[in-house]
Amino acid sequence: MVYLPIVANAAVLSGQENTNNSFLSAQTFPKTVNDLSFTERVELLKDGYAPWESEYDNNGNCVSNCAYVGITIEKELDVLQRNTEIANIRVQDYKIKYQPAQILGKVRCYQSNNAIPSNQTIPFGEPLIGNPNIVSGYGKRIHPITKKLEVHKGIDFSVPNDTNIYSPARGIVDTVWTDSTCGNGLRIQHEKGFSTLYCHLDKSLVKKGDLIEPGCLIAKSGNTGRSTGPHLHYGIYLDKNLIDPTGFINQ
Ligand SMILES: [Zn+2]
Repeated sequence: MVYLPIVANAAVLSGQENTNNSFLSAQTFPKTVNDLSFTERVELLKDGYAPWESEYDNNGNCVSNCAYVGITIEKELDVLQRNTEIANIRVQDYKIKYQPAQILGKVRCYQSNNAIPSNQTIPFGEPLIGNPNIVSGYGKRIHPITKKLEVHKGIDFSVPNDTNIYSPARGIVDTVWTDSTCGNGLRIQHEKGFSTLYCHLDKSLVKKGDLIEPGCLIAKSGNTGRSTGPHLHYGIYLDKNLIDPTGFINQ
């Protein structure tokens, strides 16, 4: 896909969405396989691993979705850390050289969350309103369902079903799909090689190829795919690599 540079157009920015955050109360989140029904367990265990998570064998060597097959979990984390540092350098570079560009195409989804700056092209901040709980952060963990060691390459926010999800930056909808792990998924391409990933959605409200404003209402959260409680899995790519979103959401 060719990326179209896009930019703020004051005429199309308007805040119409209700920004009340009171619905973002903490949710309970199943922690172990014992929290699942038998049927759910069978379904989930036969799924294998999500494409955004690295899996390791008993010796701690990466066997799938690795930066390099066979490297240890520590080396894998080193690689991911380097990618994150490169991402931060690109962000600094972007801040120095930032210039508004032209919208090259019809915007399909306008800003409806005013908390996200209308000129934002790098995915800073959270794709949600309020201050939702993070139930699983980025990094090494024992997967709550499979009980295997993995690197969780994203952040899980605990949000009730049907919570509004907003794009933190201007972009173009790269992919809308459904699979057994991510469930209903959505990926949005931004500038400077960044993309954002959203999983376990109830539904996407945008379509592949849509140009979207920062703060556009892109999806409703859900509990689809390999998920045992309502939550949003949020990831950030730099080029093809998932990086640590922590520094971005804390901006
Ligand atoms: Zn996750």
